[in-house]
Amino acid sequence: MSLTALYKGHFIDTPTPGEFRVRKEAVALVEEGKLLALEKEVPARFSSFSVTDLGEGVVIPSFIDLHVHAPQHMQMGAGLDLGLFDWLENLTFPGESRFADEDYARKIYPLFAAELLRQGSLRSVVYGTVHLESTLILAQALMDQNAPDDLKETSEASFKGSEAFCRRLAGQDRVRPIVTPRFAPGCTEKLMQALGRFSQRLDLPVQSHLSETLPEVQWVSQLFPESRSYTDVYNDYSLLGPASLMAHAIFLSDEEIDLILERKATLVHCPCANINLGSGIMPLGRYLDRGVSLGLGSDVGAGHTLAMYRSVVQAVQVSKLLRILRPQENHRAVTLSEAFYLATMGNGKFFTRQGWGPCGAFEPGMSFDALSIDMGLPEAVNMSPLNHLERFLYSGDDRDIKTRILAGREL
Ligand SMILES: [Zn+2]
Repeated sequence: MSLTALYKGHFIDTPTPGEFRVRKEAVALVEEGKLLALEKEVPARFSSFSVTDLGEGVVIPSFIDLHVHAPQHMQMGAGLDLGLFDWLENLTFPGESRFADEDYARKIYPLFAAELLRQGSLRSVVYGTVHLESTLILAQALMDQNAPDDLKETSEASFKGSEAFCRRLAGQDRVRPIVTPRFAPGCTEKLMQALGRFSQRLDLPVQSHLSETLPEVQWVSQLFPESRSYTDVYNDYSLLGPASLMAHAIFLSDEEIDLILERKATLVHCPCANINLGSGIMPLGRYLDRGVSLGLGSDVGAGHTLAMYRSVVQAVQVSKLLRILRPQENHRAVTLSEAFYLATMGNGKFFTRQGWGPCGAFEPGMSFDALSIDMGLPEAVNMSPLNHLERFLYSGDDRDIKTRILAGREL
């Protein structure tokens, strides 16, 4: 038997969105990076192995960020009194253009990779910039930080750059490319067409932004009069399918939701960014109830933190706000377990579909990706593991993350 590890702790995960599954005082049997089983005790055949005690806190699946802009990490929190377009023009585009300088990229991107790891996001889907060499530096930074399985963007500015980027990343097992038309208004029809064909030919996933603000929705309808809706634009250019991640998706019509369902695309909720830029509130509860494939993203730098536990809580809070503000529309509040599910198991489904192997919960056969959390509460408090996790999600921070394990390997 090789590469076997045993971990003891109180394990909590969400194999389904409906509720947290708590397994107290369990032992995880991990072989070659995958969970074999969670047992009450160490089985006799494993008795010769030592057991790593993950402490009196809780052990959870590590977080996955399904939408984050690496070049915006340094501007995180800046200029958030602006709306989307002013924010893009005044902060984001100038900030991203600095990555034309590779030395700048070499200074900045390792800090981004380190912060992802510190906050417990061990897998992520990342936007870079149009600059090929700098974005390759980003890919390298993510690999060096042992935060594997991160994906990189190709860019809208140069289709040739996209091809070169994919070629240069070929054979990497920790970072893979993803076709990234930034958003429909930023792309010519010709480029959208080329990227659609390119993603199909190479069987690559696609990420973009969809229906983030109302002015943007109106703008798209003027730019693409042939398409029936914003969602149809991506569909018309073969950019909408089971491997597509569409961030925001706040103002979708029923027909657009039908199309999303039909094409099995994933909508990525980014509640921090939506509130910061005053864009709107995604009707997450409604999408969940309709069976839409959903994920959760920090959307840094419109989102103000890479900590996915903040996005989990924010998803719950904005859903409550939507119910309060628009009672006539019968929105429901999303539960903490549903939001936690999105940040772990839900986001993990993208990686599973893309052939990385199953991840996102503590199920046999899944990659053993875990965080041990301990808020250091006095013993006299005697809090249940579930309450401990809830307390961490709402009011903890990265200092409470004690251990980070990816594919059975401690980082
Ligand atoms: Zn974004």
